[in-house]
Amino acid sequence: MVDFLDLKKLYNLNKDEIIERVFDVTNSGWYILGNHASKFEEDFSNYCGVKNTVGTGNGLDALTLIFRAYKEMGIMQDGDEVLVPSNTYIASILSITENNLKPILIEPEIDFYNIDENKIQNKINPRTKAILIVHLYGQVAYTEKIYNIAKSYNLKIIEDSAQAHGAELSGKKIGNLGDASGFSFYPTKNLGALGDAGAVTTNDDDLSDTIRALRNYGSHVKYENKYKGINSRLDEIQAAVLSVKLKYLDDHNRRRIEIANFYNENINNERIKLPKVKYNDPLSHVYHLFVIRILKRQELIDYLESKNIGWFIHYPIPPHKQMAYKEWNDQEYPISEERHNTVLSIPNAPYLSDNDILKIVNVINEFNA
Ligand SMILES: *Cc1c(COP(=O)(O)O)cnc(C)c1O
Repeated sequence: MVDFLDLKKLYNLNKDEIIERVFDVTNSGWYILGNHASKFEEDFSNYCGVKNTVGTGNGLDALTLIFRAYKEMGIMQDGDEVLVPSNTYIASILSITENNLKPILIEPEIDFYNIDENKIQNKINPRTKAILIVHLYGQVAYTEKIYNIAKSYNLKIIEDSAQAHGAELSGKKIGNLGDASGFSFYPTKNLGALGDAGAVTTNDDDLSDTIRALRNYGSHVKYENKYKGINSRLDEIQAAVLSVKLKYLDDHNRRRIEIANFYNENINNERIKLPKVKYNDPLSHVYHLFVIRILKRQELIDYLESKNIGWFIHYPIPPHKQMAYKEWNDQEYPISEERHNTVLSIPNAPYLSDNDILKIVNVINEFNA
């Protein structure tokens, strides 16, 4: 049996050190916004090469607070438009609509699953304020063309970095490629906590200060409230866990990439389309997910089940077909829809053995429905 993802095996890779740090917190008598949270914020800033990290309760809040802060700063207003890929996870879209901003869906590049830089320019109008790029499945979505468009129309580039911790382009880490970046440390992510956690990274000090206040009731000085904020802080236990796991992120990503390369080199079933990497840079894809495409998806799923190999679909329904966004249900995004009908994720995790991945390759190569 190879599970799609076994969080306990992931935990066991660093268990002793994690337990030690968790006990530091439980014994300290200080559980919210203490030394562990600030230590992790500092560690993560150093890792990403950015000036500021602000911990949040989860990844959705990190993204939502970026837009909220731009509104408080007078940079965005109700009804302004944000360009975002049509095939992203729903949280990217929710962070926009939660702020009364308008998502404008852009189709992805067919082979890379990320926003198509050539479909951006004709969607820009005076209300357009930002491009939310999503490093989907672990692959860097940033391009020089997107940067140039953003610069010439004065748009913010915001990164949804929830799936690509540690990915980089020409030595520059994600989280440092745009104006601000939202990270999730949901347990399944490349850098995962043992519960909910998230963070914003940015080189913009005003933005960072605003988010720091917004995540804590809008308070910039204790018991003084500058904004009508929310409660979304990174707690001490999760911060302590994350500081441990951050030390192993590069090793874990290296193993994910090694496994992905093995799949790419050895899966040779003509029914299956393998994922493509846009850049030559070996760290530009950290394979949060290894996503193949197959027309006979249900047949492959049934077959994998019979062979005890885990699978998942990321994601079965695109945002514009969700009940929550009824107003978009009759819009058509054919690339996105094809994607959602054919994608299938197979196991990729740092603890997988050479035997596990060899088994997966052999099983998939024998699939002939
Ligand atoms: C996981 C994820 C989020 C949300 O993170 P949470 O911590 O679960 O709120 C946002 N965007 C993408 C692309 C994600 O994969």
